[in-house]
Amino acid sequence: MNQSQQDIVLTPIGRVFSCWPEKFGIPKQPGLVMEATATVEFFPPYDREEMFRGLEDFSHIWVVFLFHDTVSEGWKPTVRPPRLGGQKRVGVFASRSPHRPNHLGMSVVRLVRVVVANGSVKLELAGVDLLDGTPVVDIKPYIPYAESLPNASCGFTMEAIPEVAVSFTTAAERFLAEYQQRTGRNLRELVYQTLISDPRPASQRSIGREYGALFWNVNVRWRVVDQGFEVFDSEEVTV
Ligand code: SAM
Repeated sequence: MNQSQQDIVLTPIGRVFSCWPEKFGIPKQPGLVMEATATVEFFPPYDREEMFRGLEDFSHIWVVFLFHDTVSEGWKPTVRPPRLGGQKRVGVFASRSPHRPNHLGMSVVRLVRVVVANGSVKLELAGVDLLDGTPVVDIKPYIPYAESLPNASCGFTMEAIPEVAVSFTTAAERFLAEYQQRTGRNLRELVYQTLISDPRPASQRSIGREYGALFWNVNVRWRVVDQGFEVFDSEEVTV
């Protein structure tokens, strides 16, 4: 490899502002929680309107990003995917683990709107699996004729994601309705869509009865009940 190849430096072109202030709760892939919304704001000179001309004609886009929150944790040649219960190891390149040599992620998400304000561009997205603050290194349109491969084999990810029944106490319902009234955010739907596919790491499923995760600026708490999960408390916090 010649010297210039070794010096390739990736420059973030923008930043994600998402409903996920922390990693616990974020779905393992995009499109699983369509209520999970985000905005990407771009840094000059990558925010110019002409750079996005025509993107509005695509319903979905690829967001190429850095797993910035795990860079300091390095990478390993093999990983233990949550889908395998955190037990079995596979090669890092047979996984979508954040702990990978260049810490690059790629998510295909719904493009809700291209917003142009004062000559600079923001993208509104839905169905994201991106931590708030994620640096974006590229945006590409999703091209179904080339990339939609419904008959492709998909290894260990074939396993269906078990669905959990989710209920809300009256107090939780009241808070979530008031929060939506005040902020316009359908937090109840975001929590419901997230909890039905059980966000807990496989290793935690047998222990613990109560859990909490941050959605937007709300700490939502739920407990394990016979029929699944019951959301019982929500509290606005400073994130
Ligand atoms: N769809 C992407 C891909 O295939 O490269 C990401 C898949 S990865 C399994 C999804 C997980 O990455 C999320 O559940 C979250 O825990 C983690 N994650 C999301 N944004 C991150 C960030 N900026 N830094 C580190 N981890 C992040």
